[in-house]
Amino acid sequence: MTRIALLGATGSIGRQAIEVIEASPNLELVAAASGSSVIDGLAPLTQVGGDLTELLERAQPDVVLNAVVGFAGLAPTMWALENGVTLALANKESLVAAGALALDALERGGGSMIPVDSEHSALFQCAQLGEPETLVLTASGGPFRGKTREQLASVTPAEALAHPTWNMGPKITIDSATLANKGLEVIEAHFLFGVPYDRIEVVVHPTSIVHGLVRFRDGASIAHLGYPDMRVPISYALTYPERAATPVPPLQLTTLEFFPPDVDTFRMLALAREAGERGGTYPCAYNAANEVAVAAFLAGRIGFLDIAAAVEDALGRVSGAPATSLAELVEADHVARNAVAIP
Ligand code: NAD
Ligand code: MG
Repeated sequence: MTRIALLGATGSIGRQAIEVIEASPNLELVAAASGSSVIDGLAPLTQVGGDLTELLERAQPDVVLNAVVGFAGLAPTMWALENGVTLALANKESLVAAGALALDALERGGGSMIPVDSEHSALFQCAQLGEPETLVLTASGGPFRGKTREQLASVTPAEALAHPTWNMGPKITIDSATLANKGLEVIEAHFLFGVPYDRIEVVVHPTSIVHGLVRFRDGASIAHLGYPDMRVPISYALTYPERAATPVPPLQLTTLEFFPPDVDTFRMLALAREAGERGGTYPCAYNAANEVAVAAFLAGRIGFLDIAAAVEDALGRVSGAPATSLAELVEADHVARNAVAIP
């Protein structure tokens, strides 16, 4: 029996994880936490708000499924890595922000980190077959694929929240519309697989059937395909190295299309690469500024194009100096949030 602590239980990933856990006789939910409300039937297990690492200390799970949204997921990510507890990681923001510190903690703790993000789950599975030479992440392109900057100037939060292939929480849905999500994922892939940025590519693939592709040095490439359904990577991360049955239907092959991303219009992807290449706490600052700008867009305080403008401006105001401790990283996040100019 695998004992699971689920953080972010009321969210999009959290609710699908509960479905996966309930369907498997080998998975047991031993603790759950959320930021606000409780899910019916989970009340005895669920902590609302409060200290997530205290909950993990009490629960002593075999696996932490971190499905909290944003930088708030950092403490449980670090707790699992330091303690050698398997981390099933949906909360990409913590790995983007903490990168080097997280890998040090993983090394010290001696546990493992299994990605839940669909592209990274795909790449993780492909990478079982050899040392990756280059990685290809697919992007749906979001609801605004093909739009010009002029057209994007007036789009509303409701339009940005209408994602064509994935049904997700609001923050990641806006990140998918700006391509910040793919930017965060490039940085996430860099830390998960130790591949330099110039060997991580992004390709737009509107139907989200191919999730990732790994090229090997002998000229072979292995891709991972499946219908866009997060229960598959959630189940994989919770049952690895086994595979459990899911209700997802077998894939029927169809025509697959791929296009280069428009990084001039969708600046957030280019800015993520820049932040990743500069290293230090630039990825942390990119993530922090994006969280603030997305919240302001959702609140109707800034326009869609202002998200990238605000993040670019904030990145120009921070030092990006590497963090040598968690306290320094939290400080870098704080400084970057304050550097975002929202009218
Ligand atoms: P969501 O907004 O639907 O849910 C977020 C959850 O986190 C909620 O349960 C919320 O209560 C909880 N939460 C927020 N702040 C918290 C705090 N301080 N303490 C405890 N709990 C807190 O988000 P989501 O779409 O499920 O995404 C969760 C994470 O998974 C994000 O990092 C996202 O990027 C990643 N992810 C999501 C998907 C998806 O399909 N939804 C796919 C890939 C990766
Ligand atoms: Mg993803």
